[in-house]
Amino acid sequence: MMLGLLLALALRRGPESPAPAPGPDFDAAEKEALSMLQAYLRVDTTNPPGNERLAAEFFREILDGEGIENRVYDLGEGRANILARLPGRGLGRPILLLNHLDVVPADPERWSVPPFSGDVRDGYVWGRGATDMKGTAVCQLMTLLLLKRSGAVLDRDVLFLGTADEEEGRENGVAEMLERHRADLRDPEFCLTEGNTITVEEGRVVSWDVAVTEKAPLWLKVIAPGKAGHASIPEPDGAVAHLVRALDRVLAYEPPIRLIPAVDHYFRQLALREKGDLARALADPSAALRDAPLRALLVEDPQRNADLRTTISITGLSGSEKINVIPAEATASLDCRLLPGDDPQRFLAKLKEVAGDGSLRWEVLLSETATESPIDTALFRAIERARDRFAPGVPVLTPPLTSSTDASRLRQTGVVVYGFEPFALSDDDDRSHGDDERLSVDNLRFGLEATYAIVSDVAGARPGPAQSGDAPPPPEADARRRSAK
Ligand SMILES: [Zn+2]
Repeated sequence: MMLGLLLALALRRGPESPAPAPGPDFDAAEKEALSMLQAYLRVDTTNPPGNERLAAEFFREILDGEGIENRVYDLGEGRANILARLPGRGLGRPILLLNHLDVVPADPERWSVPPFSGDVRDGYVWGRGATDMKGTAVCQLMTLLLLKRSGAVLDRDVLFLGTADEEEGRENGVAEMLERHRADLRDPEFCLTEGNTITVEEGRVVSWDVAVTEKAPLWLKVIAPGKAGHASIPEPDGAVAHLVRALDRVLAYEPPIRLIPAVDHYFRQLALREKGDLARALADPSAALRDAPLRALLVEDPQRNADLRTTISITGLSGSEKINVIPAEATASLDCRLLPGDDPQRFLAKLKEVAGDGSLRWEVLLSETATESPIDTALFRAIERARDRFAPGVPVLTPPLTSSTDASRLRQTGVVVYGFEPFALSDDDDRSHGDDERLSVDNLRFGLEATYAIVSDVAGARPGPAQSGDAPPPPEADARRRSAK
């Protein structure tokens, strides 16, 4: 409760802040967003199987009711994407608000509320997807609705894209859009999506964290063949024996440390709020990495370790279904996360060498390439201006994401993608993929105001002719600017 109160105070603007520019009625918008989120959480899009078509229809109904141009893309088997567009004057390329429609499974036994109830209690709205990422989707959609209702004139299109299958990645909706409907995305310059959030420590907002890059997953299945037999006679050349010995060597292997520019920048900013040796190490990471004790201090934290090197996690093992049978095959799953710039082929070759067993077969289940978005952009400056308004003095940090999102697919096509959801989440509030996922109503309100501020800023939203009497420029002037792009 205490934390909630502090948070509410941290989130709301102080009395010394400048008066807000006239804009939407956010008290009314908060109520609308809350009931929209409750209804959306009740749409069960557990993936597998996803059933994202239900979510697409949910949004389509709202968008149709507001007269906002939209299209549902059927992907078959109950899966779908939805794209909506608020047209701008074509003075800049679009900004894309991207969210995924699916959620990970929830085990009701482990939850204190039914996971698809959308219940509001203790100042939170509860449900699978509240933070990952249905709350964000509602802030994005409400931003479109508020801009549309205001009649604002926009310099660039604002697009809303809800996609299928981010969590499992077999029928990935973003890949589908890029491969088959790329033209509908209208060559966006910017994309805002999931990734990082506002960090809260001891009830205080300490940083706005924007993901400008993320590590690339390399998911591998390792298959060991071997002599089958009855377990009563041990088989030293058995599949499980081969696999376990190889995995032991993989576990002992530490990929080399490499300092990428985003991490160097991020660590130096972090140094400002640390003390002692850690502050010294963070303030000059490349020097610290050449000094054994400081280097040890940096990598002893698993998160920092993952910021500094490609990592390997063994996540699955299987052998015989029967306890008394030595199987002809045993398999393991490896989740490797590559630093931007690491080559998946070269890393796989190294891993094979480390495993040291030529009988193993390696299957690549997923391999992506990490790229980095620049920081010197109009969208980054819009985020900084929102920070100045809502949280002056709080740094905007750029920690790399160690997990992966759809952002990487878009970044590879040249879109500047920032993973930033303006929710102030304490460790306890960040329950994405965990039990009792929830989002505070204060965060929903703040996320909506901040998303609206950032998007209307970068889209150059100005009062429309209905409010100001200004007519937009004639269409031929528009067309000339567009072709000059
Ligand atoms: Zn997500």
